[in-house]
Amino acid sequence: MTSQELALDRVERAGKVHHPKGCGRGRYGGYPESLDPREVTCLVCRRYVEKHGLQPRSSFPDVPTFDVRPEGRFLYPRRSDGTRETGCHLVFRCPVCGQENNHGGLYGQPGAGDGHRVSHCPCWERGYYIREVTQ
Ligand SMILES: [Zn+2]
Ligand SMILES: [Zn+2]
Repeated sequence: MTSQELALDRVERAGKVHHPKGCGRGRYGGYPESLDPREVTCLVCRRYVEKHGLQPRSSFPDVPTFDVRPEGRFLYPRRSDGTRETGCHLVFRCPVCGQENNHGGLYGQPGAGDGHRVSHCPCWERGYYIREVTQ
């Protein structure tokens, strides 16, 4: 490439619409409410958007409910009375940014981790509800 072509290439890259979790150029400092993943034009970011079927933030209610799958298990810290509970990971992929979010539930007790949670990704200022589903 000539230096002129390189300059043009840089302008085009700068002019592309990126996704915050895509190629690394789309760092907006949080998830931009206005971003419609379908309007992402960077090819690397597009692949990420399509892989996870991402949707615009505006297509969800203010405080949505997400279905979570129980995965794995771990031990919660021992209580003062010596007992301890077995936890499981309640996992779902954020349909807006694509980040995998992981909350704690109780192993073998479906629904024990249901309820309102503080968001683990920047998309849900007022948090969301999780609802455990059995596979
Ligand atoms: Zn990109
Ligand atoms: Zn998110």
